[in-house]
Amino acid sequence: MIKSKLALFLLGKKEGFDMGKLVKFVRQSQYWTKEQWAEYHNARIPALIEQAYAHSPFYKQWFDTAGLKPEDIRTVEDLEKIPIVRKKDLITHGAEFRTDNAGEYAMIHHHTGGTTGTPCAYDMDRYSWALNWALKMRTFEWGGFTYGDDKLGVMAGGSLNPGKNAGWKNKLWRYVNNYYSMPITQMTDEILEEYYWHLKKKNVRFLRGYPSTLMVLAEYVHEHHGTLPMKAVFTTAEMLLPHQRKVMEEVFECKLFDTYGCGDGMGHATECEEHGELHVCEECSVMQIVDKDGKEVHDGEEGEIVLTALYNFGFPFIRYAPGDMAVKSEKKCACGRDTKMIRVLNGRVADNFKLANGKILSAFSLPFEELTDEVKQFQIVQEARERVELRVVPLKKISENRLADLKALLEYHCGEGIEVSVKVVEQIEMPHSGKRRYVISKIQ
Ligand SMILES: [Zn+2]
Repeated sequence: MIKSKLALFLLGKKEGFDMGKLVKFVRQSQYWTKEQWAEYHNARIPALIEQAYAHSPFYKQWFDTAGLKPEDIRTVEDLEKIPIVRKKDLITHGAEFRTDNAGEYAMIHHHTGGTTGTPCAYDMDRYSWALNWALKMRTFEWGGFTYGDDKLGVMAGGSLNPGKNAGWKNKLWRYVNNYYSMPITQMTDEILEEYYWHLKKKNVRFLRGYPSTLMVLAEYVHEHHGTLPMKAVFTTAEMLLPHQRKVMEEVFECKLFDTYGCGDGMGHATECEEHGELHVCEECSVMQIVDKDGKEVHDGEEGEIVLTALYNFGFPFIRYAPGDMAVKSEKKCACGRDTKMIRVLNGRVADNFKLANGKILSAFSLPFEELTDEVKQFQIVQEARERVELRVVPLKKISENRLADLKALLEYHCGEGIEVSVKVVEQIEMPHSGKRRYVISKIQ
C-alpha cells in the first residue's frame, strides 16, 4: 500500500497533477447515473466549442462552412448539427487542428498507425493524458490489480511500451508502474522461454497486450509448459477473437478483460467483471454511435463511433470518427455501472478496399467469426484491383473442400470479375508496429 502511494506521488510530480485525486475521481464516477453523465458532458461542451471556434483554424472553417456559430452548440444533442470530421481530415489538416493557444495546455505529441494502416499525428494535453492513465488504472482494478503492489507484464510494440527507450524518467516510470516489458518485434522460442521464466519467477500475475501477440505467448506456454496462471489478462488495440479468448483463458487460467481505445479522439471502453459488452469511459469524451446521416442509432443497432474529446483544448477532436464501428447497447450491466455500452465490431472502416468491379469490400461483410474455430490467423490481401487473396493459418488440418468453401465465400463477397485465391500459410508476417492488420490493400 505504501509503495502504491509513493508511486502515485512520483507520477503526480512527473505530470504536474494530483494523480491520486484523478484515480479517486474515476472510482466515484464509474457509478454515476445517466443524468449525472449528461450534466457532466453538457457542462463542458460550450467552453470546448468556443475554444475550438476561436482558436483552431480547422474548426473555425469547419463551423463556418456548416453555417454554425458557437452558440448553436450548447449540449450533447446539439453535437449532431456538426458534420462528421474524419481521419482523412486529420491526416490532411493535422496542423490546423492545433489551437493558437495550445502552449497553455502542455501538449504531448502522439502518433497512431496500428490496425488501420493510416498513420497520423496529433497532440494530447497533459490533463487528458493523466485522465486516460487513471481510467486505465481503473480497468486494471476491475481485473483485481492493485497499483503499486502488483506487477504487470506488457507484451506489445512501441505504443504500449513507452518505457522501452531507456532514459532515467522512463526507467522510473517503469519502476513505479511495476512494468515488465516484453517487446514483440523479435519473437523466437528462446525469447518466449525467457519471458515465461521471468513472469514465473517474479510472480507477475497480470498481463497486457494485443490479442494476437499474447496468443503467441499463450501458444508457446501451452506447448512447452502447459499453463501459466495469471489473475487477469488485459487485451487492447485490436479485435479479440472468440477463439483467442478461449485459448488464453485456458492457458492463463483467468478471465480476459478486453478494451477499446482510440487516442485520437480520446475514446475508451472497457470490459468489466461481468464480461459482457464494453463500458464506455465517459469521463474523457462523448462517444456517439451514429448512422450514415450522423444521427445516434437506437439500442442494438450498428453505427460508426464518433468522439468529442472533453479536455483536449489544445488540439480539439469534435465529432471525430476514427473509422471504427460498434453496436450500441442500452442494456444495463449487472455490475451496476450505468455508462453507455458498446460492442466493437471486427475490422475497421479504413480497411475497406475498392475492387475493379466498383464494389467496396468491407471487413465487416466477411463472417470472420465463422472461421475462428478452424483458422488461427487470417489476412485478406488485395494484390491488385482485380485480385484478392485470403491467407489462412489453420488451427488443424483444413480440408480441400473447406478451402473451396472459403474461396466461394470470398468470391461471393467480391463479386464478378475478381480473381480470388485462398492460400494456406504457416504464419502471417508481423508488421514492425507489432499490430496485425486483417485486411490489407497493396494498391492504395
Ligand atoms: Zn459492467
